[in-house]
Amino acid sequence: MTTNEPSFRESVDLMFNRAAALLDLPPGLEEKIRVCNSTYTVRFGVKLRGRIHTFTGYRSVHSEHMEPVKGGIRYALGVNQDEVEALAALMTYKCALVEAPFGGSKGGLCIDPREYDADEIEKITRRFAYELIKRDLIDPAQNVPAPDMGTGEKEMAVMADQYARMNTTDINARACVTGKPPHAGGIQGRVEATGRGVQYALQEFFRHPEDIAKAGMSGSLDGKRVIVQGLGNVGYHAAKFLTEEDGCIVTHVIERDGAVVAENGIDVDGLRNWIAEHGGVKGYPYGTYVEDGSVCLEADCDILIPAALEGVINLGNAANVKAPLIIEAANGPVTAGANDILMEKGTVIIPDLYANAGGVTVSYFEWVKNLSHIRFGRMQRRQEEARHQLIVDELERISKDSSINWTLSPNFKTKYLRGAGELELVRSGLDDTMREAYAAMRAVWHGRDDVRDLRTAGFLVSIDRVASSYQAKGI
Ligand code: GLU
Repeated sequence: MTTNEPSFRESVDLMFNRAAALLDLPPGLEEKIRVCNSTYTVRFGVKLRGRIHTFTGYRSVHSEHMEPVKGGIRYALGVNQDEVEALAALMTYKCALVEAPFGGSKGGLCIDPREYDADEIEKITRRFAYELIKRDLIDPAQNVPAPDMGTGEKEMAVMADQYARMNTTDINARACVTGKPPHAGGIQGRVEATGRGVQYALQEFFRHPEDIAKAGMSGSLDGKRVIVQGLGNVGYHAAKFLTEEDGCIVTHVIERDGAVVAENGIDVDGLRNWIAEHGGVKGYPYGTYVEDGSVCLEADCDILIPAALEGVINLGNAANVKAPLIIEAANGPVTAGANDILMEKGTVIIPDLYANAGGVTVSYFEWVKNLSHIRFGRMQRRQEEARHQLIVDELERISKDSSINWTLSPNFKTKYLRGAGELELVRSGLDDTMREAYAAMRAVWHGRDDVRDLRTAGFLVSIDRVASSYQAKGI
């Protein structure tokens, strides 16, 4: 990033300000919404390898207009207060846009998780969780963390267990974090959720010829050439679903140690397995290796998917980015300055607060599942199947009695007769959420002359909803 770039938090605030200026908010409310309510910093020691190691962690609460507040916990060396505050603010706007009934929060721990083994990570996570639980910064009714960069199901299971140990009579203890493994109170489809949401967002975008034309494109997702930056959980699932189900071709994958280029398409699973085994993309036999991966952000393509860190598209490279369509699978990958340059060029950006909201949407489903203490579909699935069977039997009887001589295809019958399980319900709820949120953003994008981009439209919808919530409460 170049030095005259604002910080991540300032960048988010600049984007907020642009939208807030278009709203007629009561005096002072704009500032109340923008500012981060609180950030807790904790330094704690853990004895590892015969000595005490001191770690620094954060939990930032941006807005409590709805509680609990929600947002992931990141394990990365670059974690700092500015970053968690920016990410917490994005959570507020994201939740409002997809109507997940939460305020925004985010946490982080300054640590390179690859330097520690599984037992050490568990010990560190347990201690960090203890510090947060003590201050109600992990609590089913007040603050519900989730995975983010560097964390996953295991860390969430440890945090949930730590909470249960400290709150032995809390019947809703499991709802204290989301992103847990299914056998520890999680929900099917949470791991894939953010990547799945990126796919649903693109599918929805490509349902609107007018919007596709704004990016200077035409047609469907089929055959579109895609660059993916970051093949972590989000980038991997987005790339996998887009190639396997929508006919996209991933030509470039950019990772920490460089990029792989294959104009005929990269086998996403093959590359992911290679990275897991070799620690990077270097040496992958089915593509060309490029040591300075960042140059690939500027390669020709139809869709660019930044799916890792913030600020990767910045004042230094924005002018050279050729993608007509960028979808922000990561939080804050495009800086405020880069955003302006890209807008001038006519690049369409599907913004983070919408594009990566799949994770928190399915977290919401998990939280509801934990509070209701029952798996989705358990009550109605077989009843639904029985009703479908009635229709099929009746149709077959009519056809036989009236000798019309037609039959239902076995494929139709199998599909129609099967009631939805938890995974199907989660995907259906996520798809619906992504479509509804897009519709809300799109109405503003197309409906107001003073709104030129989807990001401003998304912020406008969110700020308006947060403002209404504050006003309803009388603040
Ligand atoms: N860390 C994810 C995000 O940035 C998920 C948050 C959540 O599920 O609460 O949206």
